[in-house]
Amino acid sequence: MNEIVKGPEVDATQEDSTAALVEAQRAFFRTGATRDLEFRKRQLRKLRDAITENEDAIIEAVRQDLGRPRSEIWTSEIGVVLVEIDHALRHLSSWAKPKRVSTPLLLQPGSSRIQYEPLGCVLIISPWNYPFNLAIAPLVAALAAGNIAIVKPSELASNTAAAIMRIIGGAFAREQVAVVEGGVAETQALLDQRFDHILFTGGGKVARIVMAAAAKHLTPVTLELGGKSPCIVEKDANLDVAARRIAWGKFLNAGQTCIAPDYLLVHSSVKQALTERIVRAVGKSFGKDPRQSKDYSRIINAQHFKRLTGLIGNAPLITGGESDEAERYIAPTLIDDVGWDDAVMADEIFGPILPVLTYDDLDEAMARIESRDKPLALYFFSNDKTAHAKVAERLSAGGISINDTLAQFVNLRLPFGGVGESGMGAYHGKTGFDTFSHAKPVVTRSNWPDPSVKYPPYRTPLAFLKWMLRHTM
Ligand code: NAD
Repeated sequence: MNEIVKGPEVDATQEDSTAALVEAQRAFFRTGATRDLEFRKRQLRKLRDAITENEDAIIEAVRQDLGRPRSEIWTSEIGVVLVEIDHALRHLSSWAKPKRVSTPLLLQPGSSRIQYEPLGCVLIISPWNYPFNLAIAPLVAALAAGNIAIVKPSELASNTAAAIMRIIGGAFAREQVAVVEGGVAETQALLDQRFDHILFTGGGKVARIVMAAAAKHLTPVTLELGGKSPCIVEKDANLDVAARRIAWGKFLNAGQTCIAPDYLLVHSSVKQALTERIVRAVGKSFGKDPRQSKDYSRIINAQHFKRLTGLIGNAPLITGGESDEAERYIAPTLIDDVGWDDAVMADEIFGPILPVLTYDDLDEAMARIESRDKPLALYFFSNDKTAHAKVAERLSAGGISINDTLAQFVNLRLPFGGVGESGMGAYHGKTGFDTFSHAKPVVTRSNWPDPSVKYPPYRTPLAFLKWMLRHTM
C-alpha cells in the first residue's frame, strides 16, 4: 500500500505507478469526502498527532541532515507547523464560510456570494534547508482547503524525506496524502501528470522547469523562491539590537535560510561599530570556536561546501573564514569592503557568509537595490519612522521586517511569498487556504421580473442602456 516510488530514471513502470497514484487520488477526491469541514479538521488533527508522536524522529532526521541544534529544529521545523495547524483548526470554519457580497440593482431581486471550493489534487515540492517545515506547512494549507496532496520532499535531506514518508504514510491513505521520495527523475515523473495546483519551494532554475511542465496542463503554480535579501542599517539604528538580530537571522541554520539577510548594506559612518557588535554577537552565541558549539549548524553537502568556500576565497575578512570539509563546517564569516560587482554579490549565498557593503545616501542605496532582482526579504534598521515608511513604500520585496530579521515569516496573519524573481503567490494562515481554494462566485436570481430589454431583438435605445448600466451596477 505504502510503496516508495523510487528509481534513478523515469521508466515506464514508474510513469505507470505515478499516473496510477494520481488517478487513485482523483477518484478519492471525486467522492466529495474532503468537502466536509469536519472531515478536514479530522485530517488536520491526525496530522498534528502524527507529528507530535514522532517529534524525536523528526528532530533526529533533521539533525542528521543538517547538524542543527535540537531546540532550533523543534521551533523552526515542528513548532511552526503545529502553530499553523492550530491556527487553521481555529479559523477554518470562518475561512470556508461562503461570503455574502452585495448585489447590484441590475441583478435584483437576487443574492451574491463567494463560495470556496477545493482545487482537487495538488503537488507540493520542497527543498532541503527546512526539510520538514517546507514540506508539511503547505500540506496543512492544502488539507485545510479540502485537497488531496502529493508531497515530494528534497532528496538532499534524505533522512528527513524518509521520516516524512514514514510519518505521513502511517497516518494517511496514499490516495489522500502520498509522499513520493526521489530527485530529478521522480519529480519529472510527477510533473508529467496533471495537477490542480503545484506549490514549489526551491531555486529559480528548477522553478522554470516546474512552471514549463505546469503550463502543459494549465496548472496554476505557487513558486516560493529565494534571492539576495538586503539588510540595510541606517546611522540612527540601535546598533546593539541590530547586530544581535542580524547575527541571529544570518547564522541560524548556518545561513541556509531563504529569508536570511544575504548582504549587509550599512551607512559608512556606523560600519565599524556595527560589524564589531555583530562579531561580538556571534561570539556570544557560538563561543570563540563555533565549530565546538552545539548550536551551530553544518552545510548540507560537499557541493554546497565547495561553492561557499569558493566565495570566501582570498577575500578580506572581518571575522570567520575557517572551514573543515570533513565536517562540512564553515565559520560565521563577514567579508569586508565588498563591491556590487564582486562574485559574492552575483547569486543568493545560502550559507554563513555576510558580505559588508557601505553607503552614504539612503536614496542611492535604495536605487541600487531597485536595480537588482526583487528579493524575497528586505530588512531595514533605523529609528526614523519617516524612513521606515519610505523604505516600505518604495522598495519591492517578498516581505519586509523593520528593526528585525525573519519576523515577517512568523506572523501567520501575513502572506508569505516572493515577488518577481523571488516567486509568485503565497501561503501561511488564511493566505494558504486561499491559495489552495477556488473562490467561486455564485449569483442566485429570482424568476421575476424578467424584462425583455436584455434579449434580442434589441430595440431599447442605446442611450437608455448606457444610463441603465451606469446607474444599476
Ligand atoms: P532546488 O530548486 O534545487 O530543489 C527544490 C526541489 O526541486 C527538490 O525537491 C528537488 O528534488 C527538485 N528538483 C531539483 N532539480 C530538479 C529538476 N531538474 N527537475 C525537477 N525537480 C527538481 O532548491 P534547493 O536547493 O532544495 O533549495 C534552495 C533554494 O530554495 C534557494 O534558492 C532558497 O532561497 C529557496 N528556498 C525558498 C524558500 C521560500 O519559502 N521562498 C524556502 C526555502 C528555500
